[in-house]
Amino acid sequence: MSVVYLDNNATSAVAPEVLEAMLPFLTGRYGNPSSMHSFGGDVARDIRRAREQVAALLGADPDEVIFTSCGTESDSTAIHSALECNPSKRHIVTSRVEHPAVRSVCKWLASKGFGLTELSVNPQGMLDMAEMEQAIRPDTAVVSVMYANNETGVIFPVARIAELCRERGVLFHTDAVQAVGKLPIDMKRNAFDMLSLSGHKLHAPKGVGALIVRKGTKFTPFLQGGHQERGRRAGTENVASIVGLGLACELAQRWIEDEKTRVPRLRDRLEKELMARIPDCRLNGHPTERLPNTTNISFEFVEGEAILLLLNEAGVCASSGSACTSGSLEPSHVLRAMGVPFTFAHGSIRLSLSRYNSDADVDCVIEKLPGIIQRLRAISPFSRDRMPSPAMLSPEHSH
Ligand SMILES: *Cc1c(COP(=O)(O)O)cnc(C)c1O
Repeated sequence: MSVVYLDNNATSAVAPEVLEAMLPFLTGRYGNPSSMHSFGGDVARDIRRAREQVAALLGADPDEVIFTSCGTESDSTAIHSALECNPSKRHIVTSRVEHPAVRSVCKWLASKGFGLTELSVNPQGMLDMAEMEQAIRPDTAVVSVMYANNETGVIFPVARIAELCRERGVLFHTDAVQAVGKLPIDMKRNAFDMLSLSGHKLHAPKGVGALIVRKGTKFTPFLQGGHQERGRRAGTENVASIVGLGLACELAQRWIEDEKTRVPRLRDRLEKELMARIPDCRLNGHPTERLPNTTNISFEFVEGEAILLLLNEAGVCASSGSACTSGSLEPSHVLRAMGVPFTFAHGSIRLSLSRYNSDADVDCVIEKLPGIIQRLRAISPFSRDRMPSPAMLSPEHSH
């Protein structure tokens, strides 16, 4: 079945070149890179090349690359390591709009007695540097702030935050899962101590990621066991996926021009046309400090989930900013943190593009979405003419 795939921030297609590079390691070349025999040992060279490819994309040293099982593992590892290496410091600074991979870990640590400051964002989804400066305390062990938001695409001033952390002697970790491959990143020119990335967000397979740990940064492994990854992450290497991630990083570098020019042109046309054709909608996120591939739009008085179902019927894959929790519809924590009005927050959808999208994909959504919104508004119990009671609009109603 062919679909118009506009959900690349959720996961992306494995690049055909990546699959091809992986296949030998899922067939004939199944050796263990730690083996003494060359059948296995030779595979270590392929892992080394992948490490160099990942490092090259990020301006890192290959020794700074630790392969993990996913972005979530990288995030957990970074935060746990920071706390483990600084036992006298028991405070964490993060933002209110982090991915659950950071947010849940921080909340869990807070429940175990760690201090936690979650920075707010303004209506455009941007952090306030003054608030950031005030949040850092003498007992702060780590600041963990995402590079770019998965729901809105908003890009945080991580370079400045990293500088500030270095001045204050606090470790800085950035969840760069959405930024790697979409934005140029240079570890040499930035004071990032740790940076997380995930394969499946940049056309490598699911189940592989990396944590970049700057040389000289104190580090404690999350998984104990064998000596893989020079003792920093035990477990026999996911060789095929690591090779795939390496090539995906090399390809990302080659495609970065497309990511900077063609992809945002597609995104901007999609956004402009939808906003022009559909009344009572608003753009969520910063107008300029935003990933080139992402748009998040709210349509007043309709449910995001309903839009997605109808888009799905039309063969379009998109995502909503809301998550359905225990039968009640809860607007996304990101949009709530931005103070998006309740009647808008429920009707938000995210469209995220990639190098594999075309003008025809954009045309398809521009053609179909206005009718879908019109249909849903016609049957909505809420509308401009039939305003819901104030009680229905209060945030408590969603709980
Ligand atoms: C997808 C994502 C993750 C999680 O990565 P996985 O590899 O799926 O575990 C973490 N952070 C952000 C910002 C993401 O978009």
